[in-house]
Amino acid sequence: MDEMNLFESVKKNLCSCSADLSLDENVEALLKNPQREISVSIPVRMDNGKIRVFQAFRVQYNDTLGPTKGGIRFHPSETIDTIRGLAALMTWKCSLHNLPLGGSKGGVVCNPRDLSTGERERLSRSYVQVMYPYLGPDRDIPAPDVYTDAQTMAWMMDEYSRIAGKTTFGSFTGKPVSLGGSEGREEATARGGWYVIREALQERGMETGQSTVAIQGFGNVGSHAALLGQEVFGARVVAVSDSTGGIYNPEGLSIRQVLAHKKKSGSVRNFPGASNLTNEELLALPVDILIPAALENAITSSNAKLVRAPIVAEFANGPLSHDADDILFDSGTTVLPDLLANGGGVIVSYFEMVQNFNMDHWDASIVNQRLENKMKDAYQAVSRLAERNNVPLRKAAYTIAVARVVNAMRMRGWA
Ligand code: GLU
Repeated sequence: MDEMNLFESVKKNLCSCSADLSLDENVEALLKNPQREISVSIPVRMDNGKIRVFQAFRVQYNDTLGPTKGGIRFHPSETIDTIRGLAALMTWKCSLHNLPLGGSKGGVVCNPRDLSTGERERLSRSYVQVMYPYLGPDRDIPAPDVYTDAQTMAWMMDEYSRIAGKTTFGSFTGKPVSLGGSEGREEATARGGWYVIREALQERGMETGQSTVAIQGFGNVGSHAALLGQEVFGARVVAVSDSTGGIYNPEGLSIRQVLAHKKKSGSVRNFPGASNLTNEELLALPVDILIPAALENAITSSNAKLVRAPIVAEFANGPLSHDADDILFDSGTTVLPDLLANGGGVIVSYFEMVQNFNMDHWDASIVNQRLENKMKDAYQAVSRLAERNNVPLRKAAYTIAVARVVNAMRMRGWA
């Protein structure tokens, strides 16, 4: 198996619990394949008047528990196979967090940095025009992901509503708060992740306020992880990085100043008072917590041995290759797996849908309290099972998630 193939490693995680759950081979076959894949070519008029064709995908992996849910990524090296893996992961993530949702994921092969705002808007709207028959609040509900944001969701929701002939807020989540979005959605993945870290530290008699942190990735998830880690959870964030490299100051970084520096200069590097380092060097720092918050396969068999942090919290999807996961487990590192640690995003997306259906708007304090409860419940359930069966947290998380889907399949008459 190619250790970098995300779909293969998600399937391997599924298979690792099939014996414990006595899965029937037909059930396993169904769970190892997507229920529906949509692959399209989208023509978009560029600013220079010419048409450019973009490859785009949506994989609706499994809808046993409810309408499918998952982000849309804009990325130059997107492939349908990666999207398959991410859609499968969404299925297990929604199940683990007890949401009435299945799993999906979408992607467009493009480099959003090379596109003007107008081009990105036309691409976003065209995606919805082509995918319209397969989307909707009771079919499949996209959300922001790598290089897409609240503005992308606003355009997409608007296009969906125009075609439907009625405002349909519940068709997309991660929208701006002024347009049916939820308070706290933008920071939800990072905030949820910190609740899980806090639980894990407490179990070890430690506190977030006494811990040092290195964060790889400074996009939506990474930058909020740094900001909340420092300002809400009191941790000392000593290193952050983006795709150009990272910065390190053992005394701690002022994240607001790093954000301002990145806004001005385009990267976190050359931040006053900190030393520059590579992404690889960041992984090897002697910190209490390492948070990979960028893309999949940041840590593989080639660099996993460098990791010195006793706790690795996967705020990104699939940041550890399958082999890296084994290496870290053998070295006694606690890995807080993606489906557990980064579920805060889709949890608050679900809250957003509930608010949209009820024409309601919850205060940030309500959103955060409900998020905290859900993250704590999931952590406790996973941690208890991991201890009882003496298995890694990831295996325990998959066991809970897969069992729920299989039970629901049986009740539906599919198994
Ligand atoms: N893109 C996020 C994830 O990977 C959130 C998905 C959603 O809100 O539907 O979990």
